[in-house]
Amino acid sequence: MKNNDILLEVDNLRTYFDTRRGLAKAVDGVSFDLYKGETLGIVGESGCGKSITSLSILNLVPQPKGKIHGGEIKLHREDEVVDIAKLKRTGKKMKDIRRKDSAMIFQDPMSSLSPVYTVGSQIMEGIMLSHDVDKVEAREMAIEMLRKVGISPAEQRINDYPYQLSGGMNQRAMIAVALASNPNLLIADEPTTALDVTVEAQILELMAELQQEYQMSIMFISHDLDVIGEISDRVVVMYTGKVVEVAEVEELFYNPSHPYTQGLLQSIPKIGRKKELKPISGSVPQIYNLPDACHFAPRCPHRMDICTKKEPPTFDLGGGHQAKCWLYEEGGENNEG
Ligand code: SF4
Repeated sequence: MKNNDILLEVDNLRTYFDTRRGLAKAVDGVSFDLYKGETLGIVGESGCGKSITSLSILNLVPQPKGKIHGGEIKLHREDEVVDIAKLKRTGKKMKDIRRKDSAMIFQDPMSSLSPVYTVGSQIMEGIMLSHDVDKVEAREMAIEMLRKVGISPAEQRINDYPYQLSGGMNQRAMIAVALASNPNLLIADEPTTALDVTVEAQILELMAELQQEYQMSIMFISHDLDVIGEISDRVVVMYTGKVVEVAEVEELFYNPSHPYTQGLLQSIPKIGRKKELKPISGSVPQIYNLPDACHFAPRCPHRMDICTKKEPPTFDLGGGHQAKCWLYEEGGENNEG
C-alpha cells in the first residue's frame, strides 16, 4: 500500500487510567496503520486494550480517570492531517470528526439507538448533520438507507421505535444510523457478538457489501478469530495493551508467528478437526500486576531466559508481517526458526 492510501496512523499510543490500585496502562505503545477501504481486524482476549484503543481514536476515553498520555493518532482528512491525540475532547474540530468522518457501532444497539426516537428520525438526524438537504430529502435518503441495510418495508419501518424491532433488525438500524453521515472510518466493536450465527453471517455480509459501496475503512474489533478471519484484510493481535502481531489475514491464519496468536488459533473448535483443542494455559494478567519484560511469558510454551529479562521489540518478518517476540531475533541465540 502507498502512503497516500493511509486513512489513519496510530503511533506509540499510550492511554492510561489513574485508579486506586495504581496506573493501569490499558493501551501501552500501540502502533498500526489503517488504509483507505480496508477492514482491519483487532483481536485479543477481554482486557487486552482493543476497546480502549478504539475509544482513544475517537477521543472518547472515559474521564476523569482515563487519559491519552502520549503518541499520535493521525487522521488523513480531505485537505488536512489531524492528530486526534492533540485535539480537545469537546472542541469543535473533534466534534466535527465524530460527526462527519467517523462512526462507531457496538455489541448492544440499544447503547447507540435512543429508545424515545423512531429509527427514521435518528437516521435523518445523521443525514441532515452531514448533508445539505431539507427534511423531505433526508426522509427519502433515510428510507433508501433502511432498504440498503435490509429493513423492509422501509417506508413503514422508518416510523418504528427500536423496541418494535428484533435484535438483528436493531443491529441493522444501528448500522444505518452509523452510515447516515457517510463516514470514512467505521469502528465496529464486537458488533455481532450478541447475535445468533445466522444473523451474524447476514450482518457480516451486509457490512462487507456496504464497505464496497461506500469505500470506507473499517476497524473491526472482536475476541472471535473466526469472525475476524471472515471479514478482515489485515489483523492486529493485541495482548495486555500491546500489539504482539500484525499480518495480512491469510498469512496470520496459515503462518501465525507469535505464540499468543498460535494459542488463540489452537483453541478454536472446528468441525472435523483431528487435532486436540489446546487452550492457552493461565489467564490474562491483571493490568496492575504485569509480568516483567514479555507479558505473555508466564503462559508461553516457548519461553526463554531473555523473555523475562528484556521486553521483546517488534521484529519485521517481511510482507507486512510483524511479531513482538524474541523467537524472531535475526541470528540471535534465541531464534528457534
Ligand atoms: S518473547 Fe518469549 S515468552 Fe514472549 S512470546 Fe516470545 S517466546 Fe514467548
